[in-house]
Amino acid sequence: MIGRPRAAVAALPAYRPGKAAAQAEAEHGISGAIKLASNETPWPPVPSVAAAIAEAAAGVNRYADHRAGALRAALAASMGIDESAVTVGCGSAGLLQQLCLTYVDPGDEVVYPWRSFEVYPVFTRLAGGVPVTVPLVDHAFDLDAVAAAVTPRTKLVFLASPNNPTGTAVSAEALDRFLSKVDPGTLVVIDEAYREFNDPELGDPVTDVVPRHDHCAVLRTFSKAHGLAGLRVGYMIAHPEVVASVDKTLVPFAVNAIAQAAAIAAIGAADEILERVATLEAERLRVVAALDAAGHDFPRPHANFVWLPFGERTDDLSLSLERRGVVVRPFPGEGLRVTIGTAEENDRFLRTLAEVL
Ligand SMILES: *Cc1c(COP(=O)(O)O)cnc(C)c1O
Repeated sequence: MIGRPRAAVAALPAYRPGKAAAQAEAEHGISGAIKLASNETPWPPVPSVAAAIAEAAAGVNRYADHRAGALRAALAASMGIDESAVTVGCGSAGLLQQLCLTYVDPGDEVVYPWRSFEVYPVFTRLAGGVPVTVPLVDHAFDLDAVAAAVTPRTKLVFLASPNNPTGTAVSAEALDRFLSKVDPGTLVVIDEAYREFNDPELGDPVTDVVPRHDHCAVLRTFSKAHGLAGLRVGYMIAHPEVVASVDKTLVPFAVNAIAQAAAIAAIGAADEILERVATLEAERLRVVAALDAAGHDFPRPHANFVWLPFGERTDDLSLSLERRGVVVRPFPGEGLRVTIGTAEENDRFLRTLAEVL
């Protein structure tokens, strides 16, 4: 092998992102395909954010502010927390990689329920860590089993709530109880990429859990509800010591100037963005009702997607949908994850699914 990649890297499969509509069109010789495969927002950025992006783009001959000081301040103010308790990264995926770099030595364990977000095993292995997975029960987390899997070798626990791809969520109260059982030598990371779509009755880990447990970190992102997936900016709320350690691992200027400006503008446009979230939540209700009426059995969604556990039929169904121009995300042999899009896109998905079945 040229240059002899590390064994951990050679053994890794390449990351497979959701397929672009254009790629499906080329593969199947079709046109007008829609992508419901990556949990993106279907609309372009709101006007004030688009304007901030254009303005920042004019200044990219300069390096960005590495610390993203203005964005940290805006985030801290928006959540009513101290600036020292928040940091930003190149997407929350970037922060997940930084967390592994920060805490995981070769042989250390990283515990997470499975199935969950696909980068958890990748970043764990890249750091030389040992993934310890805990099976889902009825598509949801069994937090007692997760707590039982934690050992003195466990450096990190990853809990995606709502979970990707099953859409189930755990309450702040359940997280608080879980944190009480985990030794402070293990950092528990609550990955809330879909925070804005979640049921508010489940509580808020930033106000209800982090202040009570120094070994709890919360990840959030501008990629999903805020519609900035292409710009790569996520953030972490945690104890200042955790923030300071994780900050040491950020690639210089990894959160670029356009992303910082767009995120600040998005915080300013929160009302407009939350209206869009409400529209998607109404669509989610409608899609769930239609799938229920068609007799499908699936967990109640808490994010901007639905999980349809088709098992062995998954691969065939995904291909049939794709040939008809509806690109969803298959998890081979397990199920389909389908993003909630515009009303027209959702109707097309529901119609096409009924056809292929
Ligand atoms: C989409 C997603 C992310 C990644 O978001 P970025 O901020 O775009 O990196 C993180 N966690 C989960 C569970 C996700 O589904």
